[in-house]
Amino acid sequence: MFRLRKPNIIPVNDHIWLMDDHKAATCCLVAGHEAAMVIDTSIGVSNIRETARSLTDLPLICVNTHGHRDHMGGNWSFDRAYMNLADLPLAERTIHSSEIAEELKQNGFRYPAFEHIEDGHVFDLGGLEIEVMYFPGHTAGEIILLDRTDRVLFTGDGILEHLWLQMPESLSVRAQINSMEKLLPLRDSFDTILHGHCQQPFGMELYDTMFAALRDLEAGNTADDIDYEWRTFVSRAHPYQPNDRRIVYKEQPVCDTL
Ligand SMILES: [Zn+2]
Repeated sequence: MFRLRKPNIIPVNDHIWLMDDHKAATCCLVAGHEAAMVIDTSIGVSNIRETARSLTDLPLICVNTHGHRDHMGGNWSFDRAYMNLADLPLAERTIHSSEIAEELKQNGFRYPAFEHIEDGHVFDLGGLEIEVMYFPGHTAGEIILLDRTDRVLFTGDGILEHLWLQMPESLSVRAQINSMEKLLPLRDSFDTILHGHCQQPFGMELYDTMFAALRDLEAGNTADDIDYEWRTFVSRAHPYQPNDRRIVYKEQPVCDTL
């Protein structure tokens, strides 16, 4: 029998919550006066819509930060879901070939059609606006979301302690730096970062230290870099402080398709 589990709910303030899916991924719920946004839905073995429903009665808008399974796998609990369709091939891989998707299908769950989300789009939740920014690097279709009222940036896998740029769908270190530079003019618009695997809020130092480490890596300061193994990928990791953070990158430089 297929059994769904319940995420841990962690309040950030009186209208933003983290939904930690037992460290598989962390989804966020942001409620305005008229609508609420669910950001990511984890791997698919929790009913994220039901969890959000336990916190708000408002209409729910589901937005995916990118197309990896651990962020969009639970989209089946929604009738529609937004995503930058540059990541559609990744999402379709989950829908058509993952073991979890097959189990969900056998139990009558269906994924919704994805709706494309544009760079600069603003969702009006009623007294609270959420702005979409394309943030290519971890994947080509990664987006981040800015809530200027709460001064919160939702970063998915775009800004976090261990940045993964080593996967086939990842772009170059330079592409990630370009995305980080896009945020510079908005530097004073947020002071809290909630990423797609966090159990608590982070401050601006997460952005600042990762940005510095990326520039250090691009400058060729790789003497302390180490091998990094994940599945069959051969890659390297660039460690930086605090707390032994790292940027994982491809051993061979690649040309971006963007
Ligand atoms: Zn990811």
